[in-house]
Amino acid sequence: MILGIIEHDRGALNSQSLEMLTLARQVAADEGVGVTAVLIGTISTHLADTLAAYGVSHAIIASHDRLNEYAPEAWAETVVQIASANAPKAIMATGTDRGNELLAHIAARLNLPMAANVTQVTVGDSYAITRVRWGGSLFEEAKLHGKIKLLTVAPLVQPVSESPRGGVTIETFTPELDDKVFRVRVNSREAPEAGKISLAEARLVVGGGRGVGSADGFGLLDELAGLLGGAVGGSRVATNLGWRPHADQVGQTGTRIAPDLYIACGISGAIQHWVGCKGSKKILAINTDPEAPMMTKADYAVIGDLHKVLPALIAELKK
Ligand SMILES: Cc1cc2nc3c(=O)[nH]c(=O)nc-3n(C[C@H](O)[C@H](O)[C@H](O)COP(=O)(O)OP(=O)(O)OC[C@H]3O[C@@H](n4cnc5c(N)ncnc54)[C@H](O)[C@@H]3O)c2cc1C
Repeated sequence: MILGIIEHDRGALNSQSLEMLTLARQVAADEGVGVTAVLIGTISTHLADTLAAYGVSHAIIASHDRLNEYAPEAWAETVVQIASANAPKAIMATGTDRGNELLAHIAARLNLPMAANVTQVTVGDSYAITRVRWGGSLFEEAKLHGKIKLLTVAPLVQPVSESPRGGVTIETFTPELDDKVFRVRVNSREAPEAGKISLAEARLVVGGGRGVGSADGFGLLDELAGLLGGAVGGSRVATNLGWRPHADQVGQTGTRIAPDLYIACGISGAIQHWVGCKGSKKILAINTDPEAPMMTKADYAVIGDLHKVLPALIAELKK
């Protein structure tokens, strides 16, 4: 079997799990085995059932009263116990912060190599893989060895496709967990602002950089995003200067976005920012410098001071 670790937050599925399952299905077919989804935490079997549409015929729900919140070592230990009972050919996870962290713990426990952010796999004794490196600026071809192949799937690369199955056989697994695997765990949660659209999922993002000039300057961006039903993001300069919270940072060390339209205001387009926004279908850059990398890469560019361009745009939209 191929074990696919489903990323979810207290039962809410992360759509990148479906990207992972799409690649897992291909790997399973080439290996001549099936895909078993691993769901950690007490969740309704309804979630497991929905995975039938993505080629899953078997799901293992690891339930334990301490697994409902994320705890990387405890989750990893759980997957290791499932693996030792099932001898999978491969264990796959999402190439998100959480998926990469979890699989790295699993790799360390199993003393096996792991490949992060994989986009293509050709199975064999070792797997020939292609994976995203350097924040998406290059693809690397590599060989993945190990008795069990451990890999995460690069987010937002693999198009999701369905492959309906009759139904999912659900198995419950109760791991044995020592207190010491709960050294890192979620203690409390902070709810996002009510009504705030998540950057990663927004269909329109208005981003601001150093050119915005101040935290107050972001008022214009908030207004524009509000009118267009989008989210506001920022460059690392904007978050480092405290103009926006870190959660709003777009880029290599922030969130990767893939909206239909990204409006980049006063952002130069440094490579570390670009890798976070290049998944946007269209980019409109507003910048005083026509030579800024963001301006040369954008689909549309307005050369001008954002403090004049944005009020004009907002006034037009209000009409
Ligand atoms: C390891 C590492 C990780 C990093 N991760 C990230 C990351 O995740 N995200 C990220 O964004 N950066 C990241 N950075 C930082 C990155 O290298 C850049 O420094 C940063 O993106 C620059 O931010 P900026 O475009 O806002 O500022 P600047 O590069 O200073 O650009 C400001 C732009 O605003 C324009 N401008 C100025 N005034 C106006 C105006 N009135 N109207 C219109 N335009 C105006 C200027 O012409 C300029 O193009 C990282 C760097 C490192 C080393």
